[in-house]
Amino acid sequence: MMEQKTVPEYFGELVFDDRQMRARLSSKVYESLRRTIDEGKKIDPKVAESCAQAMKEWALEKGATHFTHWFQPLTGVTAEKHDSFIASSPDGSVIMEFSGKELIQGEPDASSFPTGGIRATFEARGYTAWDPTSYAFIKGKTLCIPTAFCSYGGEALDKKTPLLRSMEALNKQALRILRLFGNHKAKHVRTSVGPEQEYFLITKEMYNRRPDLLYTGRTLYGARPPKGQEMDDHYFGVIKPRVQEYMEDLNQELWKLGILAKTEHNEVAPAQHELAPIYTTTNIATDHNQLTMEIMQKVAARHGLVCLLHEKPFAGVNGSGKHNNWSMATDSGQNLLSPGETPYENAQFLLFLCAVIKAVDDYQDLLRLAVATAGNDHRLGANEAPPAIISIFLGDELSAILDAIEKDRPYRETKAKIMKLGVDVLPAFPRDNTDRNRTSPFAFTGNKFEFRSLGSSNSIACANIMLNAAVAESLMIYADRLEKAEDFEHTLHEMIRKTIADHKRILFDGNGYGEDWIKEATEVRGLSNYRTTPDCMPHLLDEKNVRMLTSHGVFSKAELESRCEIMLDNYCKQVHIEANTMIDMACRLILPAITSYAEKLSLSMAAKKAAAGDLACSYETSVVSRLSRLADQIYDRAGDLEKAILKLGETGDILEESAAIRDTLLPEMGELRAAVDEAETLVSSECWPLPSYGDLLFSVR
Ligand code: ADP
Ligand code: MG
Repeated sequence: MMEQKTVPEYFGELVFDDRQMRARLSSKVYESLRRTIDEGKKIDPKVAESCAQAMKEWALEKGATHFTHWFQPLTGVTAEKHDSFIASSPDGSVIMEFSGKELIQGEPDASSFPTGGIRATFEARGYTAWDPTSYAFIKGKTLCIPTAFCSYGGEALDKKTPLLRSMEALNKQALRILRLFGNHKAKHVRTSVGPEQEYFLITKEMYNRRPDLLYTGRTLYGARPPKGQEMDDHYFGVIKPRVQEYMEDLNQELWKLGILAKTEHNEVAPAQHELAPIYTTTNIATDHNQLTMEIMQKVAARHGLVCLLHEKPFAGVNGSGKHNNWSMATDSGQNLLSPGETPYENAQFLLFLCAVIKAVDDYQDLLRLAVATAGNDHRLGANEAPPAIISIFLGDELSAILDAIEKDRPYRETKAKIMKLGVDVLPAFPRDNTDRNRTSPFAFTGNKFEFRSLGSSNSIACANIMLNAAVAESLMIYADRLEKAEDFEHTLHEMIRKTIADHKRILFDGNGYGEDWIKEATEVRGLSNYRTTPDCMPHLLDEKNVRMLTSHGVFSKAELESRCEIMLDNYCKQVHIEANTMIDMACRLILPAITSYAEKLSLSMAAKKAAAGDLACSYETSVVSRLSRLADQIYDRAGDLEKAILKLGETGDILEESAAIRDTLLPEMGELRAAVDEAETLVSSECWPLPSYGDLLFSVR
């Protein structure tokens, strides 16, 4: 049921946002808190105390009984430990308490979260610290306080801490550039993100009958359905009533939490949809995306549905990603990736554009590994959008402009004279909205970049940490040179030209899916092509990457080592679970079903022969013998897979283990699957123990 309130009335009603702060805090406290939020000033304990009281009053009015420090450990999901507000009073009654100290800092038991060796070498305990830049909110009966999670040695154990550090690194370097262009007003530069989230919806009833979906989030078996996405009739198609109801309910929940859910539509595959919010500051966008994923699943359950966020729930069907639309803007709202109107603004735009081009080329590996998971490996580099090779799409016009600058030639021969940066107006170029290249992993879309390699279940924090840090590095190099330049305009022009010349190998507007591109990218241009997680993850510890990330204070060396280990460990565990699930399903569901179906056919054949004498029964004979051969194969392959799993445990080294998974386990799983999928096409649908792809993909009507 729709609530009676209008959207503006209930938007953000579960958030302790600026409106609440202004209304509930004294002006002195409010201003001090704003300085903390806007300028990163350290919080005064007295301000925290007043803020805690106001937050508590507000939360109690909303029916909350508990509070939690809400954080994003390296498991990929969010974590929370609920404490109630109650405290005992001497007269035996209870009062509701919440102190400034409880707001600022918490101590969850760090021991059950992955730390990748940090715990062993450093302090055993971890603590959570309030992030006042992301508003507190209410979920159910709990006041959730967004926090960062660190060890007592100060090492980050979460994704938010390095994200905030990377934003600060970029802020620092971008301000240096702005000052050089005469902007002394800007207080800060922040990156903004609008993540477009893809997902599948299937019915709960179908889901419950698939152990693979239950345990791993993706189907490990399943023959191709007669109809898939070949008709392209789902993309932007009419939304089915049941899905429409889901989306309406979802929007309402998100709006109450102040999340700017804006557009929704069907995606390429049947049962696939997309939700996009309006962009906001990166750390808030990250928190909101985590919350969005959680609420998508929760709301689905209310509608008898399951929301699948896995990158590749169905083989042979389009997978789900997340497009990370990214830009940089000043506190006054100037988008630094927006072409300007004066020569100076243009030059500044080109410099920021070049900073991104250089960053993406120099740190391709970091961007690739920031989106690497076992799930996303099924998309990237596996014949699906986008490829594992990172490249940038700029569009015809901007490419032609950069080409003209590099070669000191007039742009498009329209003007006789060569363009001089900082002096000439950048030729007006139309924004490319039509020939959007959907195969590019990193596309310029007019005033922002769209990084499309993220997996649908990824936290967007990782990709943005790397992107912010790499761009901060380019900007730092530029600022160092420009601050010392005797002739600012000349140095600027030469720097931009050199960036284009040195990094144009990363620019590619063609078809990113083609075999030709892989050959050209790797053999001619020398771009990296890391197809899998074990291929790319070790590069996190490459000397150039460690140097860059530590020099901007985004990660310490120990943090990087721990993250590399955790990511590889997650990969190994994930595939491990998948392999075990496959064996279990093969032995306990699929083989028995094949046997009983073969028996059924044999019995019917015998009955027919008894009744009508000498019949050929070639259908039954052929199917029984094919099924019998397939059953033997399935049994053997399941046995081989089991042996391969046992062998993995012997390596004792996470890198070796992940490589063995890539080279032996995954191919073995593929073989087992092939035999099962063939058997599925021979067994009557009644006797097959799992809902088919057709049942799953067309289950929501
Ligand atoms: P598309 O054509 O790719 O769907 P949209 O304009 O609909 O493009 O935007 C997609 C996403 O990009 C939305 O989440 C939107 O809020 C976000 N976005 C728009 N402008 C910016 C910007 N300057 N910085 C970051 N994200 C942006
Ligand atoms: Mg888009």
